[in-house]
Amino acid sequence: MEEDEVGLYNAPDMRSERIAGARLEEDANLLNLRPASLGEYINQQEIKEKLRIYIAAAKQRGESLDHVLLHGPPGLGKTTLAQIIAAEMGVDIRISSGPAIEKAGDLAAILTNLQPHDVFFIDEIHRLRRNVEEILYPAMEDYKIDIILGEGPNAQSLRIDLPPFTLVGATTRAGLISAPMRDRFEVKFRVGFYSVDDLKTVVIRAGRILGIEVTGGGAEELAKRARGTPRIANRLLRRTRDYAEVEGEGTIDAEIARRSLDMLRIDEHGLDELDRAVLATLVDKFAGGPVGLDTLAAALSEERDTITDIVEPFLLQEGLIQRTPQGRIATERGLAYLGKESPDRLF
Ligand code: ADP
Repeated sequence: MEEDEVGLYNAPDMRSERIAGARLEEDANLLNLRPASLGEYINQQEIKEKLRIYIAAAKQRGESLDHVLLHGPPGLGKTTLAQIIAAEMGVDIRISSGPAIEKAGDLAAILTNLQPHDVFFIDEIHRLRRNVEEILYPAMEDYKIDIILGEGPNAQSLRIDLPPFTLVGATTRAGLISAPMRDRFEVKFRVGFYSVDDLKTVVIRAGRILGIEVTGGGAEELAKRARGTPRIANRLLRRTRDYAEVEGEGTIDAEIARRSLDMLRIDEHGLDELDRAVLATLVDKFAGGPVGLDTLAAALSEERDTITDIVEPFLLQEGLIQRTPQGRIATERGLAYLGKESPDRLF
């Protein structure tokens, strides 16, 4: 576990508003954009191939699918995959999240109401409280839970059998999952960023569903600036639709896409204002680093979660920054991006 991240464990109140906000907006608008089957799910070939086999085998044996852990930055399709697993297994899905399950009793209520082979999806599983997590271990392993009734000398332990079920856990920070928890997942997948070509397919598919006309060039322009993330690609598509309707003829071509994205201040690398602010702060205020996460977050007046979950994964992937044991540093590429050869020296 990275030292920076220790303090965040079991701290649901630090959940980033930015992530929550993006989610809500999306839930209202994009529910019908979620692919419903493995065949429709774009990219992540290796995950799809393995899941196809595991699901077919579990169905043949009449068993529930093994527990699955998905990790990767937000917006890459983890929730969507959990829903697809349930659909392909022909079972229902219950959706919750680490911070939402406050008491052991909340978890027991969900688990005892599952039907055999159902999928139980826990988002942000690294934020489960410890007392809840401990109930989950025997549930995952033996489909049993022990509940303590009453308190003090009269307390009684009650063992309840559960139907066999599949836990799908999702996390943006694999490093924050406790070892006993991680060990109980038989299947672990890392969901990675999408290529421009894959995102182009995401945009064209979403355009078709939403009835938005997008040319190949327009889709490519949106895909290039979507930070490797389908959720962002879909959001840019909707924002650009507004632009195309008001400033153009309604069709999103390369030119309209470029103008709309410029207006949204998303540059040709896909970096938005916050990404640029993080990089610029690192270079200009801290001489290129190394600088610790808390210091960086404070200098930007941003939540540290927003930086670790949303900004950093993409800047790391693009090679603009690096994480070292001493803190974050800007790379040569990061400096070049800002048009500098070396960071401004403090002294
Ligand atoms: P996560 O749970 O990783 O934050 P989601 O599963 O909520 O991400 O996906 C965000 C959005 O991106 C979904 O609404 C869906 O429309 C789109 N999306 C994600 N993965 C894919 C994919 N492989 N193919 C097409 N659309 C996708």
